[in-house]
Amino acid sequence: MDKKDIQGFENAALAEHLLQQIRRESRHPVRLMEVCGTHTMAVFRAGIRSLLPETIRLISGPGCPVCVTAQEEIDTFLAMAREEDVIITTFGDLMRVPGTHTSLQQERANGRNIRVVYSPLGALELAVKNPGRKVVFLGVGFETTAPTVAAVILEAEKQKTQNFFVVAAHKRVPPALEALLQSEAVKIDGFLLPGHVSVIIGKKAYTPVMEAHPVPGVICGFEPTDILQGILMLVRQAESGAATLQNAYSRVVNEDGNPKAMGILHRVFEPEDAAWRGLGVIPKSGLKIREAFSRFDARKAIPVTVPESPPPRGCACGQVLTGVLSPPQCALFRKRCTPEDPVGPCMVSSEGTCAAYFRYHMD
Ligand code: SF4
Repeated sequence: MDKKDIQGFENAALAEHLLQQIRRESRHPVRLMEVCGTHTMAVFRAGIRSLLPETIRLISGPGCPVCVTAQEEIDTFLAMAREEDVIITTFGDLMRVPGTHTSLQQERANGRNIRVVYSPLGALELAVKNPGRKVVFLGVGFETTAPTVAAVILEAEKQKTQNFFVVAAHKRVPPALEALLQSEAVKIDGFLLPGHVSVIIGKKAYTPVMEAHPVPGVICGFEPTDILQGILMLVRQAESGAATLQNAYSRVVNEDGNPKAMGILHRVFEPEDAAWRGLGVIPKSGLKIREAFSRFDARKAIPVTVPESPPPRGCACGQVLTGVLSPPQCALFRKRCTPEDPVGPCMVSSEGTCAAYFRYHMD
């Protein structure tokens, strides 16, 4: 092994050891999906793909929340932004995501009141300062961010804030795994499961889906050596014919997750069917605001209708998000679609697979 290949690793000796084991033990071709966008970026940043033997193919999954947000939801955000007396608040990575005709960034340039906030609490504070406006927070993310948004809704209720609203567009990871495993087009020999989501939902949350489908799964962290450890555990399972759920991130993730965070989440939200870009409607994969908190539901307070619309023409984000295609297989990659002028969300988000391929010169 060329030691200079792994010099950038924080623990180069451990990385070298893990790589040696992976190379020694991997004999049959496997396709391993890193479900989470943070894993995708960590894999690229550390150059892990180029260090693995040819038998291992890493594919990126639907783990970038901005990327999986359906076109209809993006168009809904934009329609709300055009309503009178509305201030839209969002994390920055949604700003440039193209809707059917425009983006939040373009709407802001057209004079709409759209603010980037760094937390949902920032949106609530803005509502308190602007009592004459309806302040809407765009709730996009997985189980990691949903409890924080739920906590801010509870705080708004405590403060009796009348002008704070949330578009609940959160997604749940386990139903997405189920949808991937049911798809005939998607071929996966093992999942690297997201560490941060697992901190909240716990290892047990994956048990029903992983027991229903005999595919290896390993929860792992985000250091390069965490990822290599997760890959090694998946390779060992695949080579031995095992298909179990393992936790390689037990320093942070336990069986039950974070009961306090999950309690807050379930107090405010309940599961509902949700549309994902690339995966279609997945049963119980979204989170809607419970009736008891419906006065904070932006969809009810600011009803807008958006026509059904296809994804951007020529954009293969749907297939990229399910690992069916890699970004260079999209005809627009690096040509019409670049981070400066993105056609689809997978090129916009900092965790998007197309953006990662572009940034790290993968063709
Ligand atoms: Fe869509 Fe651009 Fe990715 Fe192609 S390269 S799939 S157009 S985001």
